[in-house]
Amino acid sequence: MDSASLMEQLHLEDQDGSFPADATSSSEHESFVTSQSSPDTAEQSGPMVEVRKTDTMGYGLFATQKIPRGTRVVSEKPILQMHDPEYRAQLIERFCTMLSQLSSEEIETLSQLYCNPKVFKEEDRDAILKWYNANSVTDANGQELKGKKRQESRKKTLRRLGCFLTNCSGIVSDGKTGRGVFALFSRINHSCVPNARYGWNETIQRFTVHVSRDLAPDEQVFISYLPLTYDSRATRAEQLEESWGFECACVACSDPASEMARVKMSVLQLLLTSYEQGNKEVPEIMQLEPLKNRGEALLIADQLAKLLISEGLVSMELVKIYRTCSQLSLWLDDLDEATEYAEKALDIEHCLIGPETEHLREGLVGCQYWLEKMQGPEGKPRGLKRRKRDMRRRLNSV
Ligand SMILES: [Zn+2]
Repeated sequence: MDSASLMEQLHLEDQDGSFPADATSSSEHESFVTSQSSPDTAEQSGPMVEVRKTDTMGYGLFATQKIPRGTRVVSEKPILQMHDPEYRAQLIERFCTMLSQLSSEEIETLSQLYCNPKVFKEEDRDAILKWYNANSVTDANGQELKGKKRQESRKKTLRRLGCFLTNCSGIVSDGKTGRGVFALFSRINHSCVPNARYGWNETIQRFTVHVSRDLAPDEQVFISYLPLTYDSRATRAEQLEESWGFECACVACSDPASEMARVKMSVLQLLLTSYEQGNKEVPEIMQLEPLKNRGEALLIADQLAKLLISEGLVSMELVKIYRTCSQLSLWLDDLDEATEYAEKALDIEHCLIGPETEHLREGLVGCQYWLEKMQGPEGKPRGLKRRKRDMRRRLNSV
């Protein structure tokens, strides 16, 4: 059975989180009190964000007031979480068990999420049927479900599985990787130019969302469902259609200048990656000259960082590029410049993750630890030889 016909059986008219949804009054909304934001955030009165219905995207998360850059607008535990299973059937079995343990409120929240029919596999229906055959299922009053009610419950479970699979995100709990769905985070819509960054913070064991720039009241919070890879519009469209079943209409998907900037970014990234890998795979296809030395690599990395900023892509990718710049500067014995880049990286990391980065200490992944290591004990620079900063420019003009 294909997923479309499977979904026809599921009373799709009862799903209200469809995406894109029919036009609905934007005055209809649910309010959620968000948890406290980062310590550096000003005192807020009332919830900073709330879930509202949008005209074209189903539900979305909106700012209720002006929100400064770097504010943590979401910090939550999953309403449903599962460790990564080995087999799909195992996942279904675990899902059914977990679902039967949720409160009716949590089930309602899960059921309101968008469900992409493409996430289903043929055997999912059979696995759910098998679980229902092996377990007794009760209603809210503890009465065992039988006959038609049991059948309806099974159909709802299948759709809720779809809601989970469409919206789940990676988490690390008790040292194990898994997936979870969330009351607020799972409502946030996609943009290829997101104004927020999301992720599981292992240190505080919560899923957080931080805004990457100032938001105006009533502005929608957007994240990117795709990793930032400077993919072309066509590639992004294909991925979004396949995994989430919608067409993106963000500014980057309608502006040819933005598309050109992404092409340029992908070329710069390609040159840098080739250089890092010893230019073994020189991108001959694009008739590009490989980067010859660290000075050239630093110029390219700096250019890439500037492009990311000009395109509004304040992202973990930018943190990574600044870290690359810092490392290259260090190799060029310019400790001042290496520190400047590391501080820029730390500023963006702080904005996107917050100060709780203990989980990034190992391997100096976190920028704070990188900066500390570079500066040496008591913040004093190690005895590195410093070269004049214009050395890079000289190298470039050769
Ligand atoms: Zn887009």
